[in-house]
Amino acid sequence: MLVVKKFGGTSVANKERIYNVANRCLEDYRAGNQVVVVLSAMGKQTDVLIDMAKDINDKPPKRELDMLLTTGEQISVALMGMAFDALNVPAVSLNAFQVAMHTTSVYGNARLKRIDTERIRHELDNKKIVVVTGFQGINKYDDFTTLGRGGSDTTAVALAAALHADKCEIYTDVDGVYTADPRIVPNARKMKEITYDEMLDLATLGAGVLHNRSVELAKKYNVPLVVRSSLNTSEGTTIKEVVKVEGMLISGVAAEKNATRISVIGLEDRPGVAFRLFNLIAKANINVDMILQSIGRDGTKDISFTVPEDMSDDAVKIIEDNMDMLRAHQVDVNKDVAKVSVVGAGMMSNPGVAAKMFEALFGADININMISTSEIRVTVLISEKDTERAMRAVHDAFGLED
Ligand code: ADP
Ligand code: ASP
Ligand code: MG
Repeated sequence: MLVVKKFGGTSVANKERIYNVANRCLEDYRAGNQVVVVLSAMGKQTDVLIDMAKDINDKPPKRELDMLLTTGEQISVALMGMAFDALNVPAVSLNAFQVAMHTTSVYGNARLKRIDTERIRHELDNKKIVVVTGFQGINKYDDFTTLGRGGSDTTAVALAAALHADKCEIYTDVDGVYTADPRIVPNARKMKEITYDEMLDLATLGAGVLHNRSVELAKKYNVPLVVRSSLNTSEGTTIKEVVKVEGMLISGVAAEKNATRISVIGLEDRPGVAFRLFNLIAKANINVDMILQSIGRDGTKDISFTVPEDMSDDAVKIIEDNMDMLRAHQVDVNKDVAKVSVVGAGMMSNPGVAAKMFEALFGADININMISTSEIRVTVLISEKDTERAMRAVHDAFGLED
């Protein structure tokens, strides 16, 4: 059997944890399996590196930032290689160049395109445990790239797909996927199973336990994915195509604080206005999420939308530079907003979900700014300070607790 095991930052934060990981990998290796280990940077090392960069230059060039950030994962894999050696186990550490993990060229948010498997196969055939850097890749200019925060999960799933692994295990500091972040909602319940689609929505809407692209890839290549703890042997959560329906309407609640609401006020109420506005935003590669357009009155209307916080300054500048062309009166920006979502395939056939969520928020005296829905989720935009309270209220209302 070939297994890919990924360990996140807290799981390799110090010497003791590194040996803990090595020993867990050894169990698989000694049972006769081929083992590929994907590691993140130790502890909060990626944050430390970002702070170092910003101390030198508050807008560091993205290429240089990736050059710096990729050192974090290289430290982990090298130390893990040394730990295996100390345990008398043959192992080799490899970075994105040595494997050859090819990505698109966008620094800081690259997508994996192709992984060469020859070197890894060769090392596995020589009975070595292969320890690979997560989060990083190389682009067509032979530069390092990174896959976006939390991207090591995606490295692991992509490797599992490329190597046709039998299993891909994501080891982290919680023992599975819960109905909400257990740090915010203490009575959240661990799920035994969840579908790719529900997990994808939860991850995209802020459940940081998995990088959303890792779930996308797992679904595309049908990689059976398990999330479990590196610190205990509890069974974890399996993410797969179809799960046994437990009669649950909702699978979970997620929140995302990295959102900004931009309102463009006093736009002319005629065809083509939304097109012109969002065309400008799209050309700048800015992701727009929720959109709300007011009903036209006196020949004008307002359009509000949300963008990721780190893109909001760029979005506002583009709009301000084009106020005449857009014939808009005013732009209003609010960074103190958060999205709270409920996700669940069961809501497709149940019309009461949105109302129940709104009732829970009303009960907690939380005002809703914007609403958006899909077949399997309802998202509201609220004031950022209310995020945790909203999550708990909604979670309770749907009876998701343990
Ligand atoms: P790693 O460094 O192992 O990748 P992360 O910090 O990226 O770990 O992800 C694990 C964290 O995700 C948990 O500590 C938990 O606070 C958070 N989390 C958010 N939503 C959920 C959820 N629905 N279920 C479990 N954990 C969640
Ligand atoms: N070290 C990277 C980060 O902190 C990647 C990861 O942990 O998955 O974002
Ligand atoms: Mg992570």
